[in-house]
Amino acid sequence: MAQPTQIHNFSAGPAVLPKVVLQQAASEMLDWHGSGMSVMEMSHRGPEFISIYKQAEADLRELLAVPPNYKILFMQGGGLAQNAIIPMNLAGCCGQPATIDFIHTGTWSGKSIKEAKRYANVNIAASGEAGGFTSVPPQDTWRLTPGAAYLHICTNETIDGVEYNFVPKVDPRLPIVADMSSHILSRTIDVSQYGLIFAGAQKNIGPAGLTIVIVRDDLLEDALPDCPSAFHYKTVAEHESMFNTPPTYAIYIAGLVFAHLKAQGGVAAMEQRNIEKARLLYEALDADDFYQNRVALDCRSRMNIPFFLRDESLNEQFLAGAKARGLLQLKGHKSVGGMRASIYNAMPLEGVQALVDYLNEFAGR
Ligand SMILES: *Cc1c(COP(=O)(O)O)cnc(C)c1O
Repeated sequence: MAQPTQIHNFSAGPAVLPKVVLQQAASEMLDWHGSGMSVMEMSHRGPEFISIYKQAEADLRELLAVPPNYKILFMQGGGLAQNAIIPMNLAGCCGQPATIDFIHTGTWSGKSIKEAKRYANVNIAASGEAGGFTSVPPQDTWRLTPGAAYLHICTNETIDGVEYNFVPKVDPRLPIVADMSSHILSRTIDVSQYGLIFAGAQKNIGPAGLTIVIVRDDLLEDALPDCPSAFHYKTVAEHESMFNTPPTYAIYIAGLVFAHLKAQGGVAAMEQRNIEKARLLYEALDADDFYQNRVALDCRSRMNIPFFLRDESLNEQFLAGAKARGLLQLKGHKSVGGMRASIYNAMPLEGVQALVDYLNEFAGR
């Protein structure tokens, strides 16, 4: 069969990037702005890279309206490393083993819980496990610990397709830590409601290898003594993410993505497009019972949309037909099965429309 002319990549991560960003990176690959160097070859302390870094930081700060009392850190280690780095930095208060409250909404918060147990007492304040992780437990069922070091939530469960549609209302002394890896920059947020936000870049920002941490100043003081210096937020902040060599090329690409988002109208404009894209796709999945998405209506993710074919013996045929049409990486996560379409910021409306057309065709509508 001939190669499809247009490819749409529904990977959950590393994931699709804006084509114009990749084109710009390609054109600057060998010689960045007349410097005679690729960004990959530059000293992270030289004026060229410092200008790239400062612009990326400023643009991200503007896009998310990050208040001045929050630091933005460009780190390495991915979201999973943060599961250890966060307790090492935030759970050291008073020399006592601290307690961390968690809301267990799926695979990623589950991994965070497992790792945090190595550093602190963990209280699972609420869990969606009994319902097969198809919703966020309502806040009036949460059993929070008085005096907990912080509350950890995963605001978009990438594998389960469950997204928060609210910001928890808690005692202002309880910092909320939010894993936003798979939906950061997809919707407007009020950063001041959170103590710390973190996100691996490879879902909605840029290349793997970069992790963004946005942390309130006052939370930099309670690190455990064993916390490695390169992961010690205060040290990283004092060195403007240059305590050790940061992932320079990933920061450069992320910066191009931030500039691109600004040119597109910023996060609010992306949110409107994401609402429309998700509406189109869920509408096609809900049209009859040929396909099934099991997530509660008010918790459905706009970014990651898992679904099942009613007749699962057709799975391979579905995926082969999709591939032939240039619709790639639709196979669901191995722990869940079925299919998953990730429709991040960089997935154009035409990509979602092409998938919807295929869904309708395959279902014989
Ligand atoms: C992908 C993902 C992670 C893990 O990221 P790594 O970079 O592989 O460590 C953590 N949390 C969420 C919500 C994710 O989607």
